[in-house]
Order: sequence, then C-alpha cells, then structure tokens
Amino acid sequence: MQHSTSSALVVSGWNRMSYSYSDNTFFSQQLESLIHKVHALVGNAITQNRYIVFGAGSTQVLSAAAYALSLQNTTSQSPTRVVASVPYYTLYKSQLEYFNSEKFKFEGDAYTWKNRSDGSANVIEFVTAPNNPDGRLNEAILGGPNVKTIYDRAYYWPHFTPIPAPADEDLMVFTLSKLTGHAGSRFGWAVIKDETVFNRMVTHMHMNSLGVSKDAQFRAFKLLKAVLEEGTGIFDFAYRTMKTRWETLAATLSTSNRLSLQNINPQYCSFYNEVREFSPAYAWLKCEREEDKDCYAVLKAAKIIGRQGNLFGSEDNYVRLSLIRSKDDFNILIERLQKLVSEEDGTR
Ligand code: PMP
Repeated sequence: MQHSTSSALVVSGWNRMSYSYSDNTFFSQQLESLIHKVHALVGNAITQNRYIVFGAGSTQVLSAAAYALSLQNTTSQSPTRVVASVPYYTLYKSQLEYFNSEKFKFEGDAYTWKNRSDGSANVIEFVTAPNNPDGRLNEAILGGPNVKTIYDRAYYWPHFTPIPAPADEDLMVFTLSKLTGHAGSRFGWAVIKDETVFNRMVTHMHMNSLGVSKDAQFRAFKLLKAVLEEGTGIFDFAYRTMKTRWETLAATLSTSNRLSLQNINPQYCSFYNEVREFSPAYAWLKCEREEDKDCYAVLKAAKIIGRQGNLFGSEDNYVRLSLIRSKDDFNILIERLQKLVSEEDGTR
C-alpha cells in the first residue's frame, strides 16, 4: 500500500498477445534478470551460471521438477519413490496421488528409507527449508547416486528465517507467493544447475500449459522491480511484521499448559548480520494433554480453524495455524487463543 504507484501495472488490451517473447522462449529475460538481482540482494541463493524455469506458482514448478528428475535414471523399471521428512508439506503427497502417474509412488517419511539398501530404485526427496508446517531449516535425509533432491525454498527469505548462507543446491524452488505475498498471481521459479534437468522442465511446461502466463510474468516483473527500488525495505517491513506476530503468539501461549509452540534455536543470519530468532509463517501447535488427542477439534471448539497434523504425515495432537493471513485474521486468532488459554483450568 505504501508503494501503490511504483508497483502498479497497466497493460493495453492489444499488448502481450502472443505465446512467446521475441527470443522465441516462454520466459521473460528481463524478469529472469530481476530474479537474479533479488537473490543477490538478499544473499539467499547462488544463481550465477544457473538456469531458471518459471511456472504457475511453485506448485507447477515442483511437479515439473519431479518429472524431470524421474527421467534421470531410466534403467530402473520400478516407479520413482518420493519421500519427505515428517512433518511434510501436504501437496507433495496429494499432487502425486491425484495425478496417479505410473512414474511415481509416494512413500512417506524420508527417515524410514534411511540406511535401506535398495540400490536399484530411484528416489526423489523433497526437502522443505524452512519447513511447512514447522519452520525448521530441514536438510536432506537421504543420499547416494539414485537419490535426487528437490529443495523447496518457498520460505527461505529473511522475514521467515535467519539466512545462514546462500543456498547452492542443484535444484531449488522459490515462489512469489511467500516473497511479496502475491499468491494469486501464480508465479514461481526454479534455480537449476544441470542443463538436461532444465531442458526437461521446460518441456514439461510446454506439455503442461504451453508456457507461463505472460500477464503473471509482467506482474511479477513490476513487483520485483518495486521491491528492488526500495533496497531492503520490504524485507525489513515483512520481518518486523512476522517477528511481532510470533512474539505476540508466543506471549499468548506462554502461560498455557495445554498448548505448546515449536521451539527453534536462533541462528546467524547473513542478511541481518546477527544471530536471529525464527519468525515462521506457521505455528505448529501441540496439544499436550492426553485427552486432547484431536487437537483440531480442541481448537475448532474455540472457533479456530487449523490444519490437522495427519495432513502433514504427523499425529493429530498437532495442528498448523497460519500466521500469514491478514492483520484482522491474526488479531482474531490471538483473541480466541487468549480466551482458550484463560479458560484452561476450567477444562481439567
Ligand atoms: N511449497 C511450500 C512449502 C508451500 O508452503 C507452498 C504454499 N503453501 C507452496 C510450495 C506452493 O506455493 P505456490 O504454488 O503458491 O507457489
């Protein structure tokens, strides 16, 4: 709202009609160059000499990445096993199961595949860092020649997490949704080291949607340009906002014996050049009491809607609450949590 004019977009009705750009690609080179600049400003990813693929949100990019990596080892006849450590972002599982491709089988928790010697099967591990739902900077659990890793870096921005060092993985996925918050524009990107993987992901985009909306690319361009014009302004603003929300939430639950929050140790942040607390996008709430096994129901009775732990491969004494909704939503959430905590003794 403070930068309404510089971030505004006006497009004539006749403009940007064709599928491709003048260089015959589906991706705007100007937008790509802004993405390099944003990563260089924040220092959250190495992007020099890397390929960049755009998609309709990181949702499409993640699926393109899985397809591209599943083609890498073609000697195996069995489907590629897809794993992620619990608690994991639900979409990895639900997307694969919905599309029901013969290429993939979702195999759940990455830990259960650690140290299992089944040399022939291909494995894709999704590593979400910071993690949705618990905000932790996850690391890969599996390794070896048949394991390919997709790093979902949606939340690797200084408003959610300390940035210990620029990420430099083979395949990293980012999204505008969690950078500026424009989830509805559906724009995400991958940063890729390997040219073959890049080409396969481009082919996937051609087959899947014949490219990426130029309108979305133009909108992303305008937004990232406005971000860069403000230096570190948007990150300082977003960090202050998230930090205040987290502190308010932690204070609200500090007297509770019934509900507890995830606890993540502070880390050095190269963006702020200091040791910093986490300020995550979600609260990964635990219901501590034996009788509160269905934590979702406990919160629902208090008019708080979360997401059940089992959706993340976890137990139902956990619930995820979103801290990235509007200010009003957040304030109402805090009010209802305060009421729930103040009534605690009466529920024993
Ligand atoms: N990855 C993670 C870890 C997410 O939390 C989300 C959104 N909740 C996405 C990917 C997908 O985001 P989008 O498609 O809007 O980029």
